[in-house]
Amino acid sequence: MMNEFALIEHFFADPAAHEPTPPWLRLGIGDDAALLVEENGWETAITCDTLVEGRHFLAGTDPEALGWKALAVNLSDLAAMGAVPTGFLLALTLPEADEAWLTAFARGLFACARRHGARLVGGDTTRGPRAITITALGRVPAGEAILRSGAREGDDVWVSGQPGRAALGLAVRFGELSPNLPGAGEWRAALDRPEPRLALGRRLRRLAHAMLDVSDGLLGDLRHLLERSAPPLLTAEIEVARLPLAPLIAGGAPPERARTALLAGGDDYELLFTAAPGSRDRIILLGRELDLPLSRIGRIVSTEQPPIVLIEPDERRTLPEVLGYDHFRP
Ligand code: ADP
Ligand code: MG
Repeated sequence: MMNEFALIEHFFADPAAHEPTPPWLRLGIGDDAALLVEENGWETAITCDTLVEGRHFLAGTDPEALGWKALAVNLSDLAAMGAVPTGFLLALTLPEADEAWLTAFARGLFACARRHGARLVGGDTTRGPRAITITALGRVPAGEAILRSGAREGDDVWVSGQPGRAALGLAVRFGELSPNLPGAGEWRAALDRPEPRLALGRRLRRLAHAMLDVSDGLLGDLRHLLERSAPPLLTAEIEVARLPLAPLIAGGAPPERARTALLAGGDDYELLFTAAPGSRDRIILLGRELDLPLSRIGRIVSTEQPPIVLIEPDERRTLPEVLGYDHFRP
């Protein structure tokens, strides 16, 4: 069986690649959002994400949290382009019209919409196994969107916030970690109510060279960024000692588990970006202004090595065992 990315490439991305690019299309399949040219010096960023019951959330999940998250994960893709949200469309498939469920779902959805200035402008409603699809639109000044493909040799690699929390939150939900650990409440909140990093994304225009949001795991998503930035072949050297592991361990996560959650756990929606070493001071300042920790976790080199190398605290170089999530991994 093909993996998720090979499937998209083979059936949907590949045929389109042989057709001439129409003048209204700046960027198609393959990034966090597509970019459509507007006439007035702006570009429209457009992105779509689905949450399926039993796959992205368990039956019985709090509908208010679900409403928030369904929109938040889409806004995160706009953030990853440096775009500002405008409108969104909601396609809802439900087994029944449960009013209590819908009331709570709408409350969470609109809380997220209001907080980030996104407006519901349409959608579709059907009966079937529960699934939520949102298509979100945003705007970015023409030419200033931050693509996955801009990483260069010599760039630093940065990540926002605290990746790993959502995976630990899931472990708490599954009973693999105790809900009484000091970090448990924060981890579950990160899983249920991710904050799209829109302010950061926008402020990184003309500063970050390449960016994506970490939805499937930090290393796996980093590999997507490296692949899209090639050629030349690029390697990311990640310095384990620079990873923000201490807060996860202070929250009670066993060190090995914290490391795996941070490097390969999905669902964090932090921004992963590369930038020139000359921009370090500005990025540190930006993190302070936004009250959001930004960690410089490694750098991009150009070599014949595998795409990602970990530099352990004792300087040993190792290869990561797990990268991230793939819906169709055999
Ligand atoms: P993200 O995690 O940022 O939402 P994905 O990993 O889901 O991105 O998708 C990777 C790229 O493939 C995106 O550009 C997305 O728009 C595109 N894509 C995914 N599924 C399809 C499809 N069925 N047809 C066309 N493009 C798709
Ligand atoms: Mg994305």
